[in-house]
Order: sequence, then structure tokens, then C-alpha cells
Amino acid sequence: MVEINLNHINKKYSGNDTNSVTDFNLKIADGEFIVFVGPSGCGKSTTLRMIAGLEDISDGEFKMGDRVMNKVAPKDRDISMVFQNYALYPHMTVFDNMAFGLNIRKNDKQDTKKRVDAAAEILGLSEYLDRKPSSLSGGQRQRVALGRAIVRDAKLFLLDEPLSNLDAKLRVQMRTEIAQLHQRLGRNFIYVTHDQVEAMTMADRIVIMNDGKIQQVGKPTELYNHP
Ligand code: ADP
Ligand code: ADP
Repeated sequence: MVEINLNHINKKYSGNDTNSVTDFNLKIADGEFIVFVGPSGCGKSTTLRMIAGLEDISDGEFKMGDRVMNKVAPKDRDISMVFQNYALYPHMTVFDNMAFGLNIRKNDKQDTKKRVDAAAEILGLSEYLDRKPSSLSGGQRQRVALGRAIVRDAKLFLLDEPLSNLDAKLRVQMRTEIAQLHQRLGRNFIYVTHDQVEAMTMADRIVIMNDGKIQQVGKPTELYNHP
């Protein structure tokens, strides 16, 4: 059980004159599926990367439960991230790609196998564990990236435009799969997209961003159903 608190977060990249994220303030309840939506360059990825610890927070506080996360190393955060370009290792098998986060944490081999097999089963990848990513379709690669995220029992899952490299039909199918995965895991998901339909169909709450700021926050019906 964890509540996430993003308290007046700011980001200014060194060399930039202006903030990329300004006064981002949001409380996320346990198990919520949050979607960040907004035009390209509005600060969605930057916010996600600060939560993952891949970028420093310039100002403000990020907490998971009572724990202040600002200075915690990425691998010590209970957070798994899925990237737009899948970020799979081409020379590794599907199994090793999925096991990666566990291996770098020196997880017990037998437990790792159990977890990877279970994730592969959920994602329909059991037959592909010995393959290299290059021999898989786009949808399968995306499932491997999801698998790598879920083998670790993270409290928070970050997904940065995970479907934008897939064709329209597959995107709709994967949307449903990700929603089901969220139901199944019961964890917090933060999902970044510039696709409003994706936001509406997947989110418990949508955060609309513009120019580095939160413009509106609400349930899909509250935000888009006005006449
Ligand atoms: P989005 O994910 O919504 O497309 P980003 O978070 O990638 O937006 O970018 C927000 C702003 O921060 C943009 O103006 C972008 O140019 C800037 N930005 C992103 N990454 C960097 C970086 N590494 N260095 C400097 N500026 C950056
Ligand atoms: P996982 O995604 O397997 O749960 P993490 O996201 O915690 O693992 O990543 C652990 C470390 O490995 C981080 O420092 C991350 O930047 C790095 N990493 C993960 N995937 C890749 C990749 N495809 N290429 C380079 N570095 C990666």
C-alpha cells in the first residue's frame, strides 16, 4: 500500500533558461491508474523521469508513503519503467531481457526463473523465451518490455508512450492488455501519452499538462464529457 506525493515539483535542465516542469503538484492514491496527457514538449517525460530517478528534481519533494525519494538511486526505488522504444538488449534472449532487473539485483536464480515464467505466461511469451528481440514482432517486443517491468514486484509502474510504435489495431489490443495487467497487479500505474482516446479509455484520473504545468486533473468523464 503506497500513496504517492509529488509536492510542488520543478525541473530546470542546466543550460535551459526556463523550467521544463513548473509546480507539479499531485497526490496519487494506492492502485490508481494515472495518465499524463498533453502535447509534445509539455513536460510529461521529464516528470516521469524524475519519478524514476533518471533526472534530478530541481525543486520540490517526491514521496512514496513516508519515504522521501528525491535522492534515492533508481535501482533502489520500488519503481519499474517501460520505455517507448522498448529498451531491450538485442544480444540477450527474451528470458534474459525479462530477468535483467532481477539479475542486477542479484536475485535468487530459481526465484527469477519462476517470476519470468509466470510473467511470460501472463503475456503470452512462454514460447519465445529463447528468442532474441530482433526475431519478434513489435507487439511481442512491447510485451517483453512489460514483462521486464512486472517480474519485479514494484509498487509503481511508469509507462512512457509504450504503444506509440505500434500500429493502430495492435495499440487498441495492447491498451486492453495493459488495463488488465493493472487490474491484476493492483499497483499504481503512471502512463504517459499524447493520445486523448488512450487517456480516456485507460485512466482512473487524467492529468492534462501544458507548457510544463498541470492544467487540469480529473476523471475521464469529468474532463471530456462536457457538452
Ligand atoms: P514531453 O514528454 O511532454 O514531450 P519533455 O518532458 O520531453 O516533454 O520535454 C519538456 C521540455 O523540456 C521541452 O521543452 C524539452 O525541450 C525540454 N527537455 C527535455 N529533455 C531535456 C534535456 N535533456 N535537456 C534540456 N531540455 C530538455
Ligand atoms: P528494470 O527495468 O529491469 O526493472 P531498472 O529500470 O531498475 O530495471 O533499471 C536498472 C538499471 O539498468 C537502471 O540504471 C537503468 O537505467 C538500466 N537499464 C535498464 N534497461 C536498460 C537498457 N535497455 N539499456 C541501458 N540501461 C538500461
